[in-house]
Amino acid sequence: MGSTGLFLGWTLTGCGNGEESGGETGEADQSLMVENCNDYSKVSASEIKKRESLGYVESTPIPDKHCSNCQLYIPAKEGQNCGGCILFKGPVFEEGYCTYWAPQV
Ligand code: SF4
Repeated sequence: MGSTGLFLGWTLTGCGNGEESGGETGEADQSLMVENCNDYSKVSASEIKKRESLGYVESTPIPDKHCSNCQLYIPAKEGQNCGGCILFKGPVFEEGYCTYWAPQV
């Protein structure tokens, strides 16, 4: 998983585009929180493209690999239904998955 490590390092150090990312603090952006995890009405088109480019799906095709056991997952806060991901903004299903899944350490 060398490419995952490289990408994570790039993400955590910032990409230099000036955008703020809730993920850098390890907390999901509260303004993007919704009740249904497939409601992207508050998510920008560029962020939707970003999750698509990573191959995000709402239901994992690999039973042992899903967002809630991924190192990059941001768990839902108390009283909220959806978590988030360090790699992009917007709601994420616990049972979701993308090609950047990384085991928890
Ligand atoms: Fe984010 Fe992908 Fe991990 Fe889900 S599997 S938390 S979308 S990096």
